[in-house]
Amino acid sequence: MPLLVMKFGGTSVANLERIRNAAQKVKAEVERGYDVIVIVSAMSGKTNELVGWVNETSPLYDAREYDAVVSSGENVTAGLMALTLQEMDIPARSWQGWQVPIQTTSAHGAARFVDIPRKNLDAKFAEGFKVAVIAGFQGVSAEGRITTLGRGGSDTTAVAFAAAFGAERCDIYTDVDGIYTTDPRITSKARKLDKISFEEMLELASLGAKVLQTRSVELAMRYKVRLRVLSSFDDTNETSGTLVCDEDEIMESKVVSGVAYSREEAKLTLVTVEDRPGIAAAIFGPLSEAGVNVDMIVQNISEKDYQGHERPVTDMTFSCPVDQVARARKALETARDAGSISYEKLEVDTDAAKVSVVGIGMRSHAGVAARMFSALAQEGVNIKVIATSEIKISVLIDRKYMELAVQALHDAFDLDKAG
Ligand code: ADP
Ligand code: ASP
Ligand code: MG
Repeated sequence: MPLLVMKFGGTSVANLERIRNAAQKVKAEVERGYDVIVIVSAMSGKTNELVGWVNETSPLYDAREYDAVVSSGENVTAGLMALTLQEMDIPARSWQGWQVPIQTTSAHGAARFVDIPRKNLDAKFAEGFKVAVIAGFQGVSAEGRITTLGRGGSDTTAVAFAAAFGAERCDIYTDVDGIYTTDPRITSKARKLDKISFEEMLELASLGAKVLQTRSVELAMRYKVRLRVLSSFDDTNETSGTLVCDEDEIMESKVVSGVAYSREEAKLTLVTVEDRPGIAAAIFGPLSEAGVNVDMIVQNISEKDYQGHERPVTDMTFSCPVDQVARARKALETARDAGSISYEKLEVDTDAAKVSVVGIGMRSHAGVAARMFSALAQEGVNIKVIATSEIKISVLIDRKYMELAVQALHDAFDLDKAG
């Protein structure tokens, strides 16, 4: 039997009526002759509520228990989806991660797939079941504990199942009708793309475009999964939505293809650290062990006169998600107490946001940075930190200018017009 993977995000399963609507889409594919693996998210808002409860109970929580709590939203929707399909006379069965079993690493809150054995699901399909409904976002570690894959992880569950079962396509149903040049909630000028390359989508996702989880794009690229994003609220057909595919399938050739943002960023500066070999390792080692996702890093130029200190000193600035600031502070203080680093003070700015432009055309075109910086300057947006790579340029700015910056960059690179 040909097989499809269909993933429904939080807004697409937000209540019983929407679950019925999603189930109708599954039924249509079954009637077209497909076996279907359905991946569901928790009802929208549910995971945030669960995360909130964990934080309120235990601010520096035990990550195993975090996973035990936040994975539960998907269990509810998986069961409800299976029941809804059964009510439509479609033989369906639900599976939580451990029942498959979806084996993952034991990196709680950010687990990665180790293996998805096909045996149990294959046996059910062989019995005549048409649909397997899988609770997204979760798995089980070698220690037998429930794990989760990081926020937005159901996308990755979907792509991993598509790869493991050789699905014809992996359809990600969500609340927008495809992937846009930027988040359509930020500007009405955002334009829907018919296709986008794996590489560009990978950058956009890792820079904050949460329409797909980064890891899902990585897996799709590696296993050549045909990955499509489309609306669960529209009538859809074979050509709806946006296909994420290889670069050479794409005709459009703009230098910049999209603008991404990440709203909740913090900028931390360690003032007056020793400037000696090993200092970066002594700072960022403990941060990484504490699970802090350090993003941009700037080491300032050392003062020649040592600022009155006996040995050379410098300032070290880095960014991380706002909700990791407490962990970062604790890790740095612990390292200071243990004597492995010293600093005069830690300055924390929790009002930052990151805005990035992405495009494979940047490889062969100069001048993108200049155009970006002058567009921001015209709007009076001050840049705190800059980072570049082959196909992206990111800036850290004040959060209050984030929307303005996204709109200005969208205009500056003519993204509302097809290229
Ligand atoms: P789901 O719950 O279905 O997984 P998400 O909220 O995780 O949905 O992702 C869909 C949202 O991603 C959209 O509502 C949109 O606001 C946002 N988004 C951000 N960047 C983009 C983009 N470039 N194209 C489309 N949507 C985007
Ligand atoms: N429910 C999880 C989240 O909100 C996973 C997902 O929806 O993809 O992050
Ligand atoms: Mg999502």
